[in-house]
Amino acid sequence: MHEMSLAEGILRILEDTARQEAARRITRVTLEIGALANVEIEALRFCFDAAIRDTVAAAAQLDIRVLPGHGWCMPCGRTVPLAALADPCPQCGSFQVQAVGGMEMRIKEIEIE
Ligand SMILES: [Zn+2]
Repeated sequence: MHEMSLAEGILRILEDTARQEAARRITRVTLEIGALANVEIEALRFCFDAAIRDTVAAAAQLDIRVLPGHGWCMPCGRTVPLAALADPCPQCGSFQVQAVGGMEMRIKEIEIE
C-alpha cells in the first residue's frame, strides 16, 4: 500500500515546515490529488491519521481536493475528461486515450499556529 509512504512523505514536509516556521502545531493541510494519480483517498486519510499521531501535526485537519483527469483521444483528436486511467473516451468509446492531466499530487496549503 503506497498510501502509507505518501502519508509519511507528507508528514516529513509538515514537520520540516513546522521547524522552519517555529510553529507550535499544524492545524490544516490541503492536498490536491489528480483523479488519475492512482491514490486511494480513503486509504491515504487512514494512513495520514495513523502517521500524525504524537507529532506536531497530530491535530491537523486533512483537506483533499480531487483534480479532474484529462486524456488526449487519438480518434477524436482532442482532450476529453477521464475519470480513471483505463477508461475509454467518453465521446467515441475508443481506448486510444493518453492521460495528459490529473496525475499530479501536491500540498497546496499548510496552516500553522
Ligand atoms: Zn474519442
